[in-house]
Amino acid sequence: MKKISVFFLFVAALSFLLFSFEKDKKIIVIDAAHGGSDNGAVYGNIKEKDITQNIANLIKKNNSDSDVEIVFTRNDDEQISLLERTTLINALKPSMVISLHANFSPKKPEKSGVEIYPQDNEISKNLAQKLSSKFENSRVIDGESFHILRHSEVPAVLLELGFISNEKDRGYLNSEEGQAEISKKILDFISDYR
Ligand SMILES: [Zn+2]
Repeated sequence: MKKISVFFLFVAALSFLLFSFEKDKKIIVIDAAHGGSDNGAVYGNIKEKDITQNIANLIKKNNSDSDVEIVFTRNDDEQISLLERTTLINALKPSMVISLHANFSPKKPEKSGVEIYPQDNEISKNLAQKLSSKFENSRVIDGESFHILRHSEVPAVLLELGFISNEKDRGYLNSEEGQAEISKKILDFISDYR
């Protein structure tokens, strides 16, 4: 069977299970961007796909709210297309999607901080402001059209966690302490939202 059919069967089974057993829970999708042969931004041996996955794992591991179910668009270092991601999201109909990325600006290595991109609607813009308030050096950027924002039929924000091209951000993003802190801020935001 082709990979895509297996994936769609997986989506169907997952949605059925969640519908049957978890209907009182709030589902939050954490989309760890990139994966597999798609490393995302790279600096030396630091890869965006690893940073996003580590932080996604910490969010799931440290979620102590039994009413919140964290669901991933990828579970491992695997390549999942943007279409597969939004197909899964639209089958699950979660309360919210948070897509995790890390930024890269080699021509301006001084650029730093968190950037939050909302969908073009009030709910998502409001969520982006709330998420931004959790991070000291952060800004909300409207008007960008990313696939995950355009094609998710539920509120979604895309979160650039910091700049891999900036020395200070890179050190923080790549440290256990930084990843733990970031995941805690995102969990705080999720628990405010529910
Ligand atoms: Zn990215």
